[in-house]
Amino acid sequence: MEEQRKKRQENIVAGVVGAFLGTLLGVVCTVVIGQLGYVASVSGLIMAVGALKGYELLGGRLSKKGAVISSVLILVMTWLAHRLTWAIAIASELDWGIPEAHRSISFLLEQGMLESAAYWGDLAMLYLFTLQKEGSGHFGREIEPAGVLYLPARDEILSMERNVAPEKLKSEREKQLRRSGLLLAEPAVLQAMEHDALREPRYLPLRVNRNGELSGSIASAAQLGRLGQYVERQLRQIARELRQGNIDADPYWQGADKNPCRWCDYKAACHFEEGCGDRRRFRRGLRAAQFWEWMDRREEDGGGH
Ligand code: SF4
Repeated sequence: MEEQRKKRQENIVAGVVGAFLGTLLGVVCTVVIGQLGYVASVSGLIMAVGALKGYELLGGRLSKKGAVISSVLILVMTWLAHRLTWAIAIASELDWGIPEAHRSISFLLEQGMLESAAYWGDLAMLYLFTLQKEGSGHFGREIEPAGVLYLPARDEILSMERNVAPEKLKSEREKQLRRSGLLLAEPAVLQAMEHDALREPRYLPLRVNRNGELSGSIASAAQLGRLGQYVERQLRQIARELRQGNIDADPYWQGADKNPCRWCDYKAACHFEEGCGDRRRFRRGLRAAQFWEWMDRREEDGGGH
């Protein structure tokens, strides 16, 4: 009886309207953050929470059917937000109207004028962030990222002697297959990614010593969580500073050929000049242990600068 009463109380049409309105908040957030050149997990969170809460609010309650409808809406609206973000970026770059820019996305991708790795990579990140933030509601358990791996979207051309030994060539090729990134230090997860990860990893950025101990680019779930929070705080700070009109010319500097000024679009307007208020910030190389120590100290100090 109680079940029947609950079913009667759910208004699916009103729920869909609520979920749609909720996802609009996520679209706005995705587009605004996207204009800063970022894909942030907070967009996924707002999109997912907006849809589910919106459905519940207007639909009376969130049944399994409501959750499925909201999920479909989240998928569609995330895709739409992503298209809109890129359309706005293209429109401002080429001085086109947004509808025209939106229509041209497929053509620009086909012609290689838009970097397809960046375009599809951004969309995948948006979906993954949404899954991480709200996936527990659907899968009944917390969704924990297993790490992040980087793969250059280009063919690796080896520069070697013409008569190089086949074994040497094979080993050099294999080196190119090794990814960079940061992985969750969970043996079962690593093994699921690469069968030989715990003995002789070829593709994952890991090392295994004689005792079978793992090292390399790995971090515990707690460390990955802290890193995620740190990145989100940084994003919020960037947005806050931009809103306050802070446009300090203080780029990070690793060397004459490794600094953001080399490819900065604003170089002509910036006139970077050290000693006149502008300054370079030199990046110190840190070992992993030093970095996590620094992160811990930051947390203890309240996460500020
Ligand atoms: S050119 Fe100016 S604005 Fe651009 S990265 Fe360098 S300091 Fe920053």
